[in-house]
Amino acid sequence: MPRDFLKGAADEYDVIVIGSGLAGMTSANILGRAGHRVLLLEQHYKLGGLATWFLRPGGHIFDVSLHGFPHGMIKSCRRYWNRDIADRIVQLNNIRFDNPQFSLSTTFNREDFTKLLTTKFGIEHQNVVDFFDTARGMNFYDDQATTTKQLFERFFPGRDDVVRLLMEPITYANGSTLEDPAITYGIVFSNFMSKGVFIYEGGTEDLVARMKKELESNNVDIRIRCGVDRINVKDGHVESVETNGRTIRCKAVVSNANLKTTILKMLGTEVLDKDFIERANAVRLNNSSTQVYMALKEGEHIDESSGDLFFTSTSKEFRTDLLLSRDITSRTFSFYYPRTRPEKKDRYAVVSSTNANWSDWADLNDADYEASKKDLVETTIDALEKYLPGIRQKIDWAEAATPRTFQHYTRHEMGASFGTKFEGLGVSRELPQQVGGMYHAGSVGIIMSGWLGAINYGVIVSNEVDQALVSKAFPV
Ligand SMILES: Cc1cc2nc3c(=O)[nH]c(=O)nc-3n(C[C@H](O)[C@H](O)[C@H](O)COP(=O)(O)OP(=O)(O)OC[C@H]3O[C@@H](n4cnc5c(N)ncnc54)[C@H](O)[C@@H]3O)c2cc1C
Repeated sequence: MPRDFLKGAADEYDVIVIGSGLAGMTSANILGRAGHRVLLLEQHYKLGGLATWFLRPGGHIFDVSLHGFPHGMIKSCRRYWNRDIADRIVQLNNIRFDNPQFSLSTTFNREDFTKLLTTKFGIEHQNVVDFFDTARGMNFYDDQATTTKQLFERFFPGRDDVVRLLMEPITYANGSTLEDPAITYGIVFSNFMSKGVFIYEGGTEDLVARMKKELESNNVDIRIRCGVDRINVKDGHVESVETNGRTIRCKAVVSNANLKTTILKMLGTEVLDKDFIERANAVRLNNSSTQVYMALKEGEHIDESSGDLFFTSTSKEFRTDLLLSRDITSRTFSFYYPRTRPEKKDRYAVVSSTNANWSDWADLNDADYEASKKDLVETTIDALEKYLPGIRQKIDWAEAATPRTFQHYTRHEMGASFGTKFEGLGVSRELPQQVGGMYHAGSVGIIMSGWLGAINYGVIVSNEVDQALVSKAFPV
């Protein structure tokens, strides 16, 4: 008999949350805390979505997406999770860059960037002030036609090196390009510049364990290995979801699954307006990523002067297409020292990340796929040798993840690591007008992606669901 992962689950809830990424868990937590009956359904065998980790022999633990987020996480976690979680968020102080145009270290905040731009790059102080103020003043309702490239041309014409310093980390942080609307850059850049880059001390497994505990204390019914196949709609309102052969009724659904999958596959086009379907079809997915995970043998170490985050590139110029190319020139190394997990074994790990196109990996046969992964691991270790001579001999475990890995574990189409491009946000926001009680919360529109963006989007959406439930706007 296969195990019944829905054993004891009720036949009806106020809200069903599909997916336990950071947005899904945050929505579930807020709605549970507000006293609603919440069911959280996750298709994978663990919670967290892309905020995840894995274990390997030798006591090694690898974080998949714990590279850095803005200071705003502290406030969001304190308000919508708990102080325990918020207090474990710490700053990364040594962010490094090395490329043919410049090599430098920074604390990655406005003050330090202003100093670098004026002294090292020779930009006039007032120009830097105006740029920061413009980026900071941007909001969703601004002109969406100006691209990030045009923004840079306005303030730093002909300065490819400055663009590289300002843009490379943001492209890494959310996949945005010079061709995307400038607000997708301005909002995320300003978030980081407010105080710098932060991570969660204790590792992703500790964060997700604490979130699970908090969800349970708010009476959220959590079910793993429960993929949702279908969301049923009756008279223009969500009625139930189908999972593991059961149909469970609800007043509202919050889907944390990929936006396009939610609309075009789980809901189905027959319940939606034609022009909405066209717009949903036209939403572009964001790019994916490759990562190489390397753990050092017990007793080996990396000097902390190596930095926390290290943006490296061998390309002479900064071009978005080069950042995505299979012919890798840019790698961002995250260094994990024992302080990342103070309560665990003394272990050092390095994770190398590179943005990637799904198409470069999707159609490889098994043998070519394995060979490409091996090549990715070897060339990455070679690249790391340049900065840490002898590292190859110190490595105990190395393996790669590709766009196919991310798709496999989270069902994100094309392994999208940051949801959708900008137009996804409008489509996600419009969903409740198409189908009563149907919401989406998860990485969309670049702005609402990444750990902070996903959590904050979960907050926004759960508040809307709460208001609708409290005002009894939904059919009983
Ligand atoms: C390699 C990599 C590195 C990253 N690094 C950073 C970083 O340093 N900083 C940062 O801020 N962000 C980073 N990110 C991005 C960040 O991890 C994501 O933006 C964020 O975690 C996404 O959260 P989400 O709520 O959108 O949901 P997701 O994490 O996308 O989770 C969606 C969940 O829905 C579940 N699901 C899907 N379909 C179904 C279904 N039918 N039924 C039930 N469940 C379903 C999935 O299994 C998954 O658990 C990185 C991402 C990647 C891939």
